[in-house]
Amino acid sequence: MENTSFFVGFLVMWVLTETNKLTLQQNLLLTYLSSERLVPRINSLCHKEWQDVRSKQTSNKLFEVKPIIGNTTCPGHLGQRENTIINRLRIGHTRVTCRHLLSGDTPPLCDECNCVLTIKHILLECSAFNDIRKKYFPCSPLSNFFESTDLLRVVSFMKQINL
Ligand SMILES: [Zn+2]
Repeated sequence: MENTSFFVGFLVMWVLTETNKLTLQQNLLLTYLSSERLVPRINSLCHKEWQDVRSKQTSNKLFEVKPIIGNTTCPGHLGQRENTIINRLRIGHTRVTCRHLLSGDTPPLCDECNCVLTIKHILLECSAFNDIRKKYFPCSPLSNFFESTDLLRVVSFMKQINL
C-alpha cells in the first residue's frame, strides 16, 4: 500500500512537470526532494524486483554464479587484464566456450569428457585438469567460488591450461 501511494505521488509530480503546471522553483524543489527520497526508494524497489526475477531463473547460469544480486567488487590486487579474465569467467563468456554463438556451430565439447565445454566444467569438473587445478585452488561450489578462491591463482590456472 505504501508503495502504491509512493508511485502515485511520483506519477502526479511527473505529469505536473511534463504539462508545465509547475513553476521553475517548484520543479527544482520537487527535483531536490525526489533525489533525496525517491531515488533510494526506486533503487530499492528495482533491486527487489530484479532479485525476484533472478530467484525464479534457477536454470540460468548466472544464478549459479551469483544467486544474490548485489555489488561485485574487483579485487584491487588484480590488473585490468586479470579483472577482465575473472569477469568473463564469472559470466561464463569466453572465446572458447561461446564462439559457437556467433558462428552458428554446435557448442564445443570437452575433448576429455565429451560434454559441453563450460566455464564451470573447466574450473571445477573436468578430470583432464584435476592435477593442475589441485596445484592452484581447491574445488568449491560455483556460487562462492569467486569469493573464496585466490583470483590470481585462477588466472594462473587458466594460463597454464591455455584457455
Ligand atoms: Zn572435461
